[in-house]
Amino acid sequence: MVLKKFPLLLSILLLALPVIGQQQSNSKPKPRVIVVGVNGMELDIIRPLLLKGLMPNLSSVIERGAYGKLRTVSAPNCPRVYSTLFTSTNPEEHGVTGFIVGGITANTNMLKEEPVWSMLSKSGITVGMANVPATFPVMPVNGYMISGMLTRGKNCEDGVLCAPKLSEVMGGDAVYPKSMQAELLKNVGDFYIDCERMPAAADLKGHETELIDKWLGKVQLIREQQTKLFDYLLTTHPTEFTFLAQSCEDRTGHWLYPITPFNVGYNPSINGVRIDAFPDQYVAFDKVLGSILKHVDENTYLIIFSDHGIKPLREFEEKDPHAHMDHEKTTPVIAKHDFADGDDVPGSFFAMGPGIKHDLRLMGLGASVYDVAPTLLHIYGIEQPKQMRGRILTEIFENADNRVAAKQ
Ligand SMILES: [Zn+2]
Repeated sequence: MVLKKFPLLLSILLLALPVIGQQQSNSKPKPRVIVVGVNGMELDIIRPLLLKGLMPNLSSVIERGAYGKLRTVSAPNCPRVYSTLFTSTNPEEHGVTGFIVGGITANTNMLKEEPVWSMLSKSGITVGMANVPATFPVMPVNGYMISGMLTRGKNCEDGVLCAPKLSEVMGGDAVYPKSMQAELLKNVGDFYIDCERMPAAADLKGHETELIDKWLGKVQLIREQQTKLFDYLLTTHPTEFTFLAQSCEDRTGHWLYPITPFNVGYNPSINGVRIDAFPDQYVAFDKVLGSILKHVDENTYLIIFSDHGIKPLREFEEKDPHAHMDHEKTTPVIAKHDFADGDDVPGSFFAMGPGIKHDLRLMGLGASVYDVAPTLLHIYGIEQPKQMRGRILTEIFENADNRVAAKQ
C-alpha cells in the first residue's frame, strides 16, 4: 500500500518544491524538531542516575520541559511500538505486529498506514532520519533516511537483533537517497546499523566475564559510531524534522539488568559480573544526548521518548522456559518488555521547546505512543488525519489553544 503511495509522494514533492521555496522566503521558518528514540528506556533505572547527577543532559531537558511515562501497546517490542508511534494506529491496523510477521522479518513494505515522516514530507517539511527501528528498506522522504533495527546484511541475514555494517547491507537500501551512502562511508565510516547480537548461553559458559566485556566494548564502539553519524547529519544535513534512534540500551538490559539473587534466572557468573552495565548505558546515552543538544537552540523542539520500559522477569514466568530466552533464541534473558500487559512496562516521554511548559511532570499513563505523531503534526500546524488514534498532548503546551508556532 505504502509502495503505491510513495511514487505519488515523490511527484507531489517535485511539483511542490519550487512553490514551497517561494513561500518560505516570505513567511516564518517552519518549526525545527529533533526526536530522539531510545529503545526500552526504563525510568526505574534512570531515576537513581538523575539523582546521582550522572545524566546532566537529561536533567537539563527535564528542567526545561515536560516529562513522564508513555503508555505503550500490549506485548510491546520495537517494530510493533515504533510502527504504532509512526502511524498512530494499532499494530493490527498498520501491520507490523512484531519482529516477524507471517514468517518474514518485519519491513517497511508491510506498513499499511501512512507514517508521520511521509505526511511531513508531503507538507514540504524537510525530513532527516537515522537508525530508527523498522525503517528498512528505507522509504523516500523530503530529505534523507538511514535505516535502523531490522536492517538485513552480512552476519545478520534475518535482520533480527543483530548489526550489519553499512557496506554489507543486503536485501534492500539502507540509505535514501542512494547517493548519500558513498558520502557517509567516506565521512562517517563503515558504521554498524543497530546493535550487537547478544551472545548465546553456550558461548558464555566458562567465558562469562571475557565475553561480557567484549560485548560491552562492541556496544560502546557502535554508540561512538552512532554519535559521529548523528553529529555529522545534524551539522552537514540539517532538516526541519530529524528523527534519530538508539537501540543498544535495551539489548543490554535483556541480559545484564542489575537483578538480585532472588530474581528469576539469576546466574551469578553472568549477573554478578558487571552490575552497572545496564545503568552505564544511560550514562553513555546522556553523552550522546549532550552532542545532540549542541544542535538544539531555543527555537528547536526536542522530544526524547522510549517505546517501552524493561523489567526483570516476573513470578509468573518462573515456570515458563520460553521467558528466559530472547525471541525464542539462545540468549539467557533476565529482563523483558513483551508482557501481555503493556502498562507493566511504560515507555517515557520528554519534551522541550518553544511554548512547552517547564518542569512539568505528566502523571499516570495519560500520554501514549499513539499521541506522539499527532503532537508532531500539531507542532507543524498540520491537521491530524482521521485514521490516527492518538491525540495532541495539549497539556504540555503553555497555550493549549495555540494552533502552533507554524501558524502564529
Ligand atoms: Zn528489547
